[in-house]
Amino acid sequence: MLIINPSFTRHLAPWTIWKGDSKNRTVYLTFDDGPHPQYTPEVLKILKDYDATAAFFLTGENIVRHPGLVERIHSEGHVIGNHGFSHMNLAFKKRQVVFGEIERTDQAIRQITGSPSRFFRPPYGRFDFRFRKYMKQFDYRLVNWSLLTEDFREHPPEFLLKRVMAHVHPGAIILMHDGLPTTPILIQILPEILNSLKKKHYRFVSLMELE
Ligand SMILES: [Zn+2]
Repeated sequence: MLIINPSFTRHLAPWTIWKGDSKNRTVYLTFDDGPHPQYTPEVLKILKDYDATAAFFLTGENIVRHPGLVERIHSEGHVIGNHGFSHMNLAFKKRQVVFGEIERTDQAIRQITGSPSRFFRPPYGRFDFRFRKYMKQFDYRLVNWSLLTEDFREHPPEFLLKRVMAHVHPGAIILMHDGLPTTPILIQILPEILNSLKKKHYRFVSLMELE
């Protein structure tokens, strides 16, 4: 198996999660690369306004920098996921490197929240066949996504709204970011995205419900 483009994940690696229950009008909101001292509190406020639960895939580096935010994400009922320590592409890296990236982040999360994370999202969505075994060893599920908002590019905010509403489907795992230079664009339009999804009768559910 070569480096996997997430859109092929479902065919080549059925042991990974790329979407949730497609029988109900549910969506899974996910935010990567935080926590960020300015953007993460803004995202948390919007989620609270819309009574929405999300998952935050945090990097170890940012966890160590902003432990108070990790505690806040956890205490507000959101799921904390492991996104590696230094956000390096881990596909085909030495076993010790991959383990170090996952384990250091895992320990940082446990130290702050007092509980283990259950979900790992590989940086850039890249992984290889060995990760199936690694996930078992760490008791993680590997989670990618089914809806890429492209919030990492400098699109106008309306583009993000249109893209989400054009591609949303029952059980969609929506990938967004709370720790990028382009995140202010997402934050501008995030209330409208959540509002539009609600109007279409989508419920925001936690990744914990996948288990
Ligand atoms: Zn990332």
